Amino acid sequence: MNAVVGILRAVWWSDPDAEIPVLTRGPTDGVGPILEGYGLSPTSGLWTDAGHTVGVARSPAGLFVGWLDVGWLASDEPFTEMRDITHLVERTAPAPLAHEIGIALAEAARSRAEHLRACERCDERFVPGQMFGAACCHSCAVRDGDTGR
Ligand SMILES: [Zn+2]
Repeated sequence: MNAVVGILRAVWWSDPDAEIPVLTRGPTDGVGPILEGYGLSPTSGLWTDAGHTVGVARSPAGLFVGWLDVGWLASDEPFTEMRDITHLVERTAPAPLAHEIGIALAEAARSRAEHLRACERCDERFVPGQMFGAACCHSCAVRDGDTGR
């Protein structure tokens, strides 16, 4: 178990007003290219992959790497919830940092895979926040009218 993986939970609201400020460090900023190298791009304050499965948040306190679940403010208000977060100090040497980010991303992907749950109706696998019940995903629940009451 990675020692820096804490039980921290953090929430990044989908509200654009809550976006983490973009760090401007000029031409010496090597983190953006590293993240792009891992197939991540910035959206709503997080660097995420195309499938929105893992994310990296940049902050003045360093990088936060985790997998992406779905949280619900209300039944029609989902938000991205980052889980099993690894905190990395943004060191200046790009090679060790790229290595650490790669490890953290792999750890996040592995952790996400462990948390996926199967829907008995459509036979697909989902993150916990996309499940309506223990064995049924939100899409199937909506389709079958389970959410009507
Ligand atoms: Zn389903």
